[in-house]
Amino acid sequence: MTQKKILLPGAKLGVMGSGQLARMFALEAIPSGYEVSVYSPELHSPASGVGAKEFVFEYENKEALLSFLKSIDALTFEFENIPEIALSTIEEFQNASDLLVHPSPNCVRIAQNRWKEKSSFRKAAIPTVNFYPVFTNQDREETPSKVQYPCILKTNTMGYDGKGQVKCKSKEELISALSNLKELNHIVEEFFPFTSEASVIFARFQDGAISYFRPSLNIHKDHILDLTFHPGNFSPSVEKNLVDYAKKLAEEIDYIGVFGIEFFIKDEEILCNEFAPRPHNSGHFSQDSGSLSQFSLQLRTLCNLPAPKEIPVRPITMKNILGEDYKPGSKLWTTTLGNPHFHLHLYGKTEARKGRKMGHWNYSGPNPESAFAGWE
Ligand code: ADP
Ligand code: MG
Repeated sequence: MTQKKILLPGAKLGVMGSGQLARMFALEAIPSGYEVSVYSPELHSPASGVGAKEFVFEYENKEALLSFLKSIDALTFEFENIPEIALSTIEEFQNASDLLVHPSPNCVRIAQNRWKEKSSFRKAAIPTVNFYPVFTNQDREETPSKVQYPCILKTNTMGYDGKGQVKCKSKEELISALSNLKELNHIVEEFFPFTSEASVIFARFQDGAISYFRPSLNIHKDHILDLTFHPGNFSPSVEKNLVDYAKKLAEEIDYIGVFGIEFFIKDEEILCNEFAPRPHNSGHFSQDSGSLSQFSLQLRTLCNLPAPKEIPVRPITMKNILGEDYKPGSKLWTTTLGNPHFHLHLYGKTEARKGRKMGHWNYSGPNPESAFAGWE
């Protein structure tokens, strides 16, 4: 099936998932005249709050998923942990129809599996941490003698925000962590003592054209992204390598759409950590950068609209609002809202649990490096 058609306003776009990333995609697509539908088990989701039509079914419900796919012209994803049965249903439907699907289910499969993901980095000659499989009992026995310490034992699938990870300082600690595993399907990674973390938001179009934002610097707190500084203050050679690695990955796995790719940096040494087959939290700065946002790039890649050659952006700092920081009406929020350089984005979630992403602030004024200093 050739997929060269261009989807103009009026077309019906679908998203797998209905959380904040689907909401922000809808906030880009609906004002441009597209219809947006979202598929997930959640009723009254963040995306429905801004006008997306909801299909509320389990991902494994093949019949419901097929009726969703029949109702749309193009499909994209807001998260990677989509069950295999849904991915193969999408693939089958796509092969028998002219539904556009960007990125491909196969790219989603790679991103949801750390082993496949890191193997793709290796194939594309992108440096990454040393990693070892824990898929069989034999792996479980042999791995502790192979790795350098410290290391991190990670679930191979379904991990996010540092969940499912155990740091091990010694062979004894790894042996003990491995013996506590309820199931195999893990990997062990060597720990890299990075001094900074960076990400690149990258888009590749169906004709091979690319658009990207300059690399950002990311600060995590308790394994959850806290701050993004855009652009990050990297040396020209580091900056060039980060973008080159993103491009190599996109070409290696024939990626079409937007992805966020994360790196560890120590001096001039760069190791790639992971990528997400969708807009990324560290790309939210782009909503207030005075140019295109990452969601606009998602829309353009999905609909085969033209690729922007250059995305001129001004410096921006993004700060996440987690459940514990969600304080509408507080003095800090009221003062901040009185400052025209701060832009508030909330995701329409009512329950503010600890660690839950409720929204973010973007700051676009002078001194972006100190915009959120003293907020803790
Ligand atoms: P998740 O999928 O949960 O985001 P990551 O692999 O990105 O998992 O790990 C979360 C964070 O843990 C990273 O952003 C980094 O700060 C730290 N981390 C993960 N792997 C390593 C490693 N190999 N070396 C050093 N730090 C790491
Ligand atoms: Mg991560």
